[in-house]
Amino acid sequence: MTAIAFDLPEDVEQIREGIRAFARTEVIPRHENNKELFENSRLKYDEDGRLSAPVRQLIKEIRMASAEAGYYHMCVPEPLGGGGQGMQAYYACWEELFHTCGPHNWMMLYALSHWAFGPSRLLEKVTDRARDEILAPLMSGEKSMCFALSEPGAGSDATMIKTKARPDGDGWLVDGRKIWISNGPIADYCILFAITDPERAAAKKGGISAFLVPTDAPGFEMQRVVKLFGHIGGDEAELRFEDLRVEPWQLVGELHNGFSAALYGVSLGRIYNSARSVGLGRWSVELALDYAKTREAFGKPIAEYQGVSFPLAEAATELHAAHLMGLNSTKLLDQGHAAVKELSMTKVYSVQVGLRAIDRAIQVHGAMGLTNELGLAEAWQYLRIINIADGSNEILNKTIAQKLLQGDVSL
Ligand SMILES: Cc1cc2nc3c(=O)[nH]c(=O)nc-3n(C[C@H](O)[C@H](O)[C@H](O)COP(=O)(O)OP(=O)(O)OC[C@H]3O[C@@H](n4cnc5c(N)ncnc54)[C@H](O)[C@@H]3O)c2cc1C
Repeated sequence: MTAIAFDLPEDVEQIREGIRAFARTEVIPRHENNKELFENSRLKYDEDGRLSAPVRQLIKEIRMASAEAGYYHMCVPEPLGGGGQGMQAYYACWEELFHTCGPHNWMMLYALSHWAFGPSRLLEKVTDRARDEILAPLMSGEKSMCFALSEPGAGSDATMIKTKARPDGDGWLVDGRKIWISNGPIADYCILFAITDPERAAAKKGGISAFLVPTDAPGFEMQRVVKLFGHIGGDEAELRFEDLRVEPWQLVGELHNGFSAALYGVSLGRIYNSARSVGLGRWSVELALDYAKTREAFGKPIAEYQGVSFPLAEAATELHAAHLMGLNSTKLLDQGHAAVKELSMTKVYSVQVGLRAIDRAIQVHGAMGLTNELGLAEAWQYLRIINIADGSNEILNKTIAQKLLQGDVSL
């Protein structure tokens, strides 16, 4: 049964089915066969809060198996050696992965190259030498990256970054700090943003450059793992750079104009997070529907009470709308439109309705909804984070309002 009146392109459908099958054969069994490792936080994380060596090994296996099967890099541009699929395929595959795997089978995060952790369109902007040195291990899934823009004093307004690259011979020496960097605790490479022209940066007219650096370079330190929601470890890092030497071949994009790479990366993140919200929202509603049909109270299944079924009907309605928005805005991107307003609307709306759906699913399950076993609270945590990351709701609403006020009232 389909609720969508138009067909996705055949190749998008095929890879969506393929990635679903990959998740079922390569991701979910690895979770099932390693329950103890994932359920015991002391085994899941090292003392310093990084994912432990056995977990990192499983992640690498998934990345490499997916690359081998041709899924991992299918949304990477063809000139980089990828499958050249567009943004609608990227959206559809992420939505499928989150819907199929739910929060428990979280290693599906590595079944498809994430825009910041693996090879992505961002690498179109690196030099030939950088491609020669890093592309092969990233494409094979052997190595991974991170994207370091935010700093303790610069979040929504990333132009406030203080990390500086000061001239040193034909290159630069970088000093500064970054925080909240996803995959930072375990990444092999990092795209970092630093001020290269202080005057232009102060005038907010460029002056920021992006550099690709190996994370084991002298002067690059993963200072600590940032822990969220009471977990004893995590995926976000605080990074520190001291006299970190970078050279012209490490530039990503043009000197002093690295900010466009930052904005581009963040927009890829918005597609990913919109898909994640709809996928997890759908997973939670289906879980709640199954439960409501079998759980009885006052002589009948709770599904027969409108107080139970109507909130699920509302959640499904909202998720359907968010799903259509995701397919539409990514289609606009594939057609070459900037779709800034539409993608902002999609992300704001998808996260809100995903969160509401999960909250309603928790309520339908009663006390069961709060257990670790079901993972609904875990799913809620995932989405609560993205009310803030990759453009907070307020910043996205600011963007939408700006576009409307500039006269773009197309809906
Ligand atoms: C889990 C997680 C992962 C992340 N991963 C990365 C990563 O990989 N790489 C990276 O570089 N960064 C990453 N970030 C950082 C993320 O991009 C920032 O958290 C985000 O940009 C918001 O910045 P901030 O947290 O400093 O909040 P602030 O910018 O300090 O904002 C605080 C509050 O003020 C509001 N606000 C700010 N300006 C306005 C305005 N003009 N109008 C109305 N309200 C406003 C915000 O919406 C927010 O509610 C991650 C964050 C999280 C939580």
